[in-house]
Amino acid sequence: MAAKHLANCIFCKIIKGEIPSYKLIENEFVFSFLDIGPLSRGHALVIPKYHGEKLHDVPDEYLAAALPAAKKIAVALGAENYNILQNNGRIAHQEVDHVHFHVIPKPRASDDEG
Ligand code: C5P
Repeated sequence: MAAKHLANCIFCKIIKGEIPSYKLIENEFVFSFLDIGPLSRGHALVIPKYHGEKLHDVPDEYLAAALPAAKKIAVALGAENYNILQNNGRIAHQEVDHVHFHVIPKPRASDDEG
């Protein structure tokens, strides 16, 4: 299915380069960049290049590309402990209405020393 963008969506604008981002990965199906408000060092987002508000709005081929991208980021960061999160709907803490997967490294307490 062809990529689909929404004119006033902040993540669609990031995909199109209309809003700058620290890009990590881009391919036919997904775009990945560092979260602007990181919960930890390396916190990244992987977003499908198809505007869907929630997981069930996005075609499978875009979703299928998201986890390999998240895995690549975790490996590149050398993260041994990390969360992959994906929120759907306000009650579930979704703030941006374009599907996104968080990659959130969880450093050991000792990683923050010195
Ligand atoms: O899952 P949720 O919708 O709550 O997460 C949205 C995420 O998008 C936040 O972590 C926020 O920091 C990030 N964000 C971003 N760049 C923007 C707007 C939001 O990285 N321009």
